[in-house]
Amino acid sequence: MAYEKIKPLIDRQLDDIRKAGLYKNERVLLGPQGGTIRVATHCNQGAMGSPPVINLCANNYLGLANHPAVVEAAAQAVRTHGYGMASVRFICGTQDLHKELERAISDFLDTEDTILYSSCFDANTGLFETLLGEEDAVLSDALNHASVIDGVRLCKAQRYRYGHGDMADLEKGLQQTAGRRIRLIATDGVFSMDGDFAPLDRIVELAERYGALVMVDDSHATGFIGATGRGTPEAFGVSGKVDLITSTLGKAVGGGTGGFTSGRRELIELLRQRSRPYLFSNAIPPMIAAAGLKALALIDQGGELRARLQENAAFLRKELEQQGFQVKPGRHPIMPVMLGDAALASKMADRLLEEGVYVIGFSYPVVPKGEARIRVQVSAAHTRDDLAKAAKAFHKVGRELAIIA
Ligand SMILES: *Cc1c(COP(=O)(O)O)cnc(C)c1O
Repeated sequence: MAYEKIKPLIDRQLDDIRKAGLYKNERVLLGPQGGTIRVATHCNQGAMGSPPVINLCANNYLGLANHPAVVEAAAQAVRTHGYGMASVRFICGTQDLHKELERAISDFLDTEDTILYSSCFDANTGLFETLLGEEDAVLSDALNHASVIDGVRLCKAQRYRYGHGDMADLEKGLQQTAGRRIRLIATDGVFSMDGDFAPLDRIVELAERYGALVMVDDSHATGFIGATGRGTPEAFGVSGKVDLITSTLGKAVGGGTGGFTSGRRELIELLRQRSRPYLFSNAIPPMIAAAGLKALALIDQGGELRARLQENAAFLRKELEQQGFQVKPGRHPIMPVMLGDAALASKMADRLLEEGVYVIGFSYPVVPKGEARIRVQVSAAHTRDDLAKAAKAFHKVGRELAIIA
């Protein structure tokens, strides 16, 4: 019985996680995602008894996760295209809807071509090893998303991890890797724990000076950052100068599932031939493709949604700052309320839930030790009343826990 010897080792690890206050309990939502939700553990009376709470921790930036038009597009596609593909794309998993969505994403981002994946995590893990070999180099921001880190780990290229947003360090890396065949700079467009932006204008400038390619993971930007929601390349005025964009359909673009890589024609063509999560994993279901198409259409006409999101974010940020919370400065709907201590962050999240506000305390290893926080995320789905109530709850709990005066 091999497992009997191994079980204590695993139990000990689980205990360590619990003792460090890092154990993650999942709360169960009773019903759809939205600006307000019902949470099972909030009140153990089932769906009917649980009062709605204001949800400040979804990536549902534009409120499309339960938008009637998106839901309807998915429902219709189930009827016209069936439930699943039971195939990878290159065998018999490609429908008209998949091709349409790829084209729509390319049109939206003004790129040459796009390849869909089951997730952005897959897009990232399938990217680097396909395009880069031993004779190449990848230069990666120290705070990149786990999926970019894992993708880089899978490739044999030389790796240079530059300090977060540190352009002098990136330049040093470009100098050190001068002899390499292909050099690819990889960065998140927006960093998820702080809501800060990669300095894409300067990254592109360095890339051009040193003859490197640029890849941006724009998961926390596609659909709502930049004047027309095209993401960080638009925000920094470098559209067309970023070689590869990876992003997700699981956040602003409907919030279902799915991801993609978009960019230079030949790079996408090579990914279609060789990228392992594409070749060896199922095609996304047609309803996801159809809902993605609808979400993109809404985003294309989504000036009002984006404006509401920005106004909502500015409103809550100002409220929290005025109350004396230490909110990391920025202009993204992610606003980290810094607390430092992991136990305090989780205590605060629990108390806020009792006050009708659902947030999550983030602590190590998701953020650096000693930088525990409540990551607040605002949505276009929130009403001003939701946010005013949330601010009031923060005030009450913040004073109670002696975080603010
Ligand atoms: C959320 C996120 C991902 C993962 O996207 P999925 O489609 O859920 O796999 C990848 N990269 C970044 C930067 C993200 O924020």
